[in-house]
Amino acid sequence: MKNILRVLSVLLLSSAALAATPWQSLHHPIAGKPQSIGTFSNGCIVGAQSLPLEAANYQVMRQDQRRYYGHPELIQFIQRLSMQIANRGLGQVLVGDMGMAAGGRFSHGHASHQSGLDVDIWLQLPKTRWSASMLLKPQPLDLVTADGRNVVAQHWQPDIGMLIKMAAQDRDVTRIFVNPAIKKQLCATAGSDRDWLRKVRPWFAHRAHMHVRLRCPPDSPECLAQLDPPAGDGCGVELQSWFEPKKPATGSPVKRTPPALPSSCQALLDKHIL
Ligand SMILES: [Zn+2]
Repeated sequence: MKNILRVLSVLLLSSAALAATPWQSLHHPIAGKPQSIGTFSNGCIVGAQSLPLEAANYQVMRQDQRRYYGHPELIQFIQRLSMQIANRGLGQVLVGDMGMAAGGRFSHGHASHQSGLDVDIWLQLPKTRWSASMLLKPQPLDLVTADGRNVVAQHWQPDIGMLIKMAAQDRDVTRIFVNPAIKKQLCATAGSDRDWLRKVRPWFAHRAHMHVRLRCPPDSPECLAQLDPPAGDGCGVELQSWFEPKKPATGSPVKRTPPALPSSCQALLDKHIL
């Protein structure tokens, strides 16, 4: 009986965690001048655009999820980056999740991607285009060894380093999140041209994709910017700390209540959801 109750409570908890958010019922962008509102992890977007799903230089994965919306500057960034990659003959850019039509919180999978300024780009550059069925069920390529300390030598390609570098050098990009082992590889191979490494931030997971974040667009007064990353290439003590054994947690875990929505996002929900 105890076991059944335990299974039931786990099921209930997990279904609560996967509960739909109101943002998922907004299937079309909110009409208006494009504006990113709030923060990357608590925000929304007016006037989002869809990334064109047919393009010569990139392919859009899992289109059935309809997570291909963003601020026009995000669309332009993806087009600009994939053009640069194509010009060098490096292959096709594989675009993963951007945001939903009106932005906002996902039921699962992402804490950020809420204000139309984040995109996941896979760390693979296929030379031939993927089929529709491959794009619907894409196979990630894990670039990090099981112990989390290094990249997998036979999977790592200098072209992938170039993809991350070109994204980091883009004028609109403020941060790129990759696994610490990938940042370590970039630090080891960057040579003397290292300024771009400042934007490349070590983070959990991100073993097969990079998460690219743009700055707040100038025409979005309610967009809340993050502080710039710390000065320097981030290859020293900070990176090293990711490879040190975790200290045991002390005290009781802190319960976090989600922050209140920005008032403009709440107003959008009130207006568009019955
Ligand atoms: Zn992401």
